[in-house]
Amino acid sequence: MNNDRRGSFGGGRGGFRGPREMHKATCADCGQETEVPFQPSGDRPVYCRECYQNHRPKRY
Ligand SMILES: [Zn+2]
Repeated sequence: MNNDRRGSFGGGRGGFRGPREMHKATCADCGQETEVPFQPSGDRPVYCRECYQNHRPKRY
């Protein structure tokens, strides 16, 4: 049987399904360095966790 197809997974590039990749960014509000789970596009400001609380849209 051709069972030798496995092995192509888990190649050289790790971290595919691992923990979220964090990207360093500078908070647009307080200027602190922070990490965000997405790639900062430079299009929109990035906030640290604390400032994000202040900038997130209120849901009420
Ligand atoms: Zn901040």
